[in-house]
Amino acid sequence: MQGLMQDVPLNLPTLVRHAERLHPRKTVTTKTADGVKTATFVEVIDRSRRLATALRELGVNDDERVATLCWNHQEHLEAYIAVPCMGAVLHTLNLRLFPDDIAYIVQHADDKVVIVDRSLWPLWEKVAPKVTSVRQVIVVGDVPGPKIPGTHDYEELIARVEPMDYALDLPERQAAAMCYTSGTTGHPKGVVYSHRSNVLHSLALSLVDCFALAETDVAILIVPMFHANAWGLPYACLMTGADIVYPGRFMVPDVLAGLIAERRVTCAGGVPTILQAMLASLMKVKAQLGALDRLLCGGSALPEALQQAYRKELGIHVLHAWGMTETSPLGTLCRPTSALRNAGDEDVSRLRASQGRPLFGIEIRIVGDSGLELPWDGRSVGELQARGNWVASSYYNDDSSPEKFKDGWLCTGDVATIDAHGYMRIADRTKDLVKSGGEWISSIAIEGLIMAHPDVAEAAVIAVAHPKWDERPLACVVAKPEAKGRLTKGQIIEHLRPHIAKWWLPDDVVFVDQIPKTSVGKFDKKVLRGQFKDHVLPTE
Ligand code: ADP
Repeated sequence: MQGLMQDVPLNLPTLVRHAERLHPRKTVTTKTADGVKTATFVEVIDRSRRLATALRELGVNDDERVATLCWNHQEHLEAYIAVPCMGAVLHTLNLRLFPDDIAYIVQHADDKVVIVDRSLWPLWEKVAPKVTSVRQVIVVGDVPGPKIPGTHDYEELIARVEPMDYALDLPERQAAAMCYTSGTTGHPKGVVYSHRSNVLHSLALSLVDCFALAETDVAILIVPMFHANAWGLPYACLMTGADIVYPGRFMVPDVLAGLIAERRVTCAGGVPTILQAMLASLMKVKAQLGALDRLLCGGSALPEALQQAYRKELGIHVLHAWGMTETSPLGTLCRPTSALRNAGDEDVSRLRASQGRPLFGIEIRIVGDSGLELPWDGRSVGELQARGNWVASSYYNDDSSPEKFKDGWLCTGDVATIDAHGYMRIADRTKDLVKSGGEWISSIAIEGLIMAHPDVAEAAVIAVAHPKWDERPLACVVAKPEAKGRLTKGQIIEHLRPHIAKWWLPDDVVFVDQIPKTSVGKFDKKVLRGQFKDHVLPTE
């Protein structure tokens, strides 16, 4: 029809040009060994344009993959901008994986160039002999040292070229970036983000009922830039003009808390284990946290006790969100709606522990064993499925998981309920559910309750084989240092008893020094299950 709106593509060059024009003096600050370094958006974007020219000169063509093996810092952001805006594809490598896994991923993605931090060179040296696709290596000097033979120095490379003009008409459905899931089963799988999905995700993240990212914010970006598109935060900050603070390679709670205090950070995001680890450090600088306004927490279930601790101790609401690498990652986010205006504190606190409501752009549903969609009644439990503008439609060059993508829906592998107001609550990952006598028990619900015990630091619940019931829950508990040797199994069970059905009570409680974590800081139940596979449950 005539008279239609203009057809401007939703692409990253347009987002970056907006950042350059509207927020030129906003800043990117990175923690260094002896302080911090700061650059303006205009400087960062100019450097990204030079990086893009240099990459083109190194022979990087449209759609070819440029990988990064870097901490969270300014140069990594420059690659986040340069690579997609020149028409190539940014592939972020998880620096906490084993060299063999990294090599598999590099090779599978067919990465042509790798940008590596000098501090991570020892890791890259173990990967390099196992890959054949990589033609060039660029080294970012995040630590001092001589030039590494056979590589390009990042600063030298960008100093000698002119900045590239990014094509503002880059097709929005073109690939912009890719990220491999940590692959809890089988090989890691590649998820490919488009320009369009990144831009729409940035818009959604900034909505007031979502993370409400704004020009007035100072955001510390703690979520690793190698994981799940860094939760989309780098692009959303550029778009809104929020100042960015990066911890560099100093991912230490006291350093993070110090940066939050000194840089007057207003918002941050992280997985629950990071928020848990940061709480004590933040308490030490409580008087300087006047600017801190909100925290985003996702990646695994946010225990209600942790949520309450942040509110009580620091007066800060933690916004609980759910997502996956496959959903860019934001899918749902929890804020109480107007319907809860008159609800009591306890109800609101319980609700805030849920994973929240889907953002516009994402649809969710739960599906029962029969394949039929289940009602939104807060009770029916089924597999969570999602579809939308920033949800993967398949994995990159991998047909081994047809069960993940059905009829246009992503089958998440999570089991959840949805209530009448659209609040979704994850019961478990399918593979973590405890199946006892044909009924399921939510390990997440029990863990959340155990972690509310004042003497407990962390707790994970896993299934252990049982001759009569198939599986029964085993609670693995880390006592707080002051309660070590004093906290007993009986105390944990009595603490749980008023809150859950008798048959949900763990058959046994074991005290461990720590819960093993995955490469992105989630409880690694696969390792725990291995550790306790021969655990004999008490008979009575
Ligand atoms: P990985 O498989 O390595 O954990 P992802 O980061 O993509 O990779 O993980 C996505 C999964 O993390 C989800 O399917 C879900 O099981 C879990 N998850 C994410 N956010 C939450 C949350 N708020 N509560 C419970 N589980 C969550």
